[in-house]
Amino acid sequence: MSGNRTFTMIKPDAVEKNYIGAILEKINAAGFKIVAMKYTRLSKADAGEFYAVHKERPFYSDLVDYMSDGPIVAAILEKDNAVADFRELIGATNPEEAAEGTIRKLYAESISANAVHGSDSDENAQIEGNFFFSQLERH
Ligand code: GDP
Repeated sequence: MSGNRTFTMIKPDAVEKNYIGAILEKINAAGFKIVAMKYTRLSKADAGEFYAVHKERPFYSDLVDYMSDGPIVAAILEKDNAVADFRELIGATNPEEAAEGTIRKLYAESISANAVHGSDSDENAQIEGNFFFSQLERH
């Protein structure tokens, strides 16, 4: 059974370009409710921990540098089939391959600075949401 929550971040490149409002509008228009949201900044240690699954990938240190380079917006989103539907809304990792109308096609600049994060499973949605929000903040 698929869950009804996913986790997203608006990444430093999109925050820097003042795309927060436009991206949140797309998220709401696609039927997601924002149930927790925070404007914050990751330290290098935070970013390293968040992306620990990618530790062995060649781009890991670039990714950690980039994600700690400026503020981000973290949010928990609610909708039926949230994880899969949100992955569809954001589009492929590489914006050049992302479908027309997707958030990455519209707002991302490169495969690393790709505007938004979206959880890839219900389990990770929960882990990632817990990374940013306490129990209290999610209610
Ligand atoms: P996602 O689930 O679509 O975000 O993609 P992945 O889980 O594969 O990768 C996590 C994040 O690492 C991506 O969103 C990008 O910010 C970054 N990334 C992925 N592939 C590359 C790459 O080949 N080069 C660089 N520099 N960054 C990458």
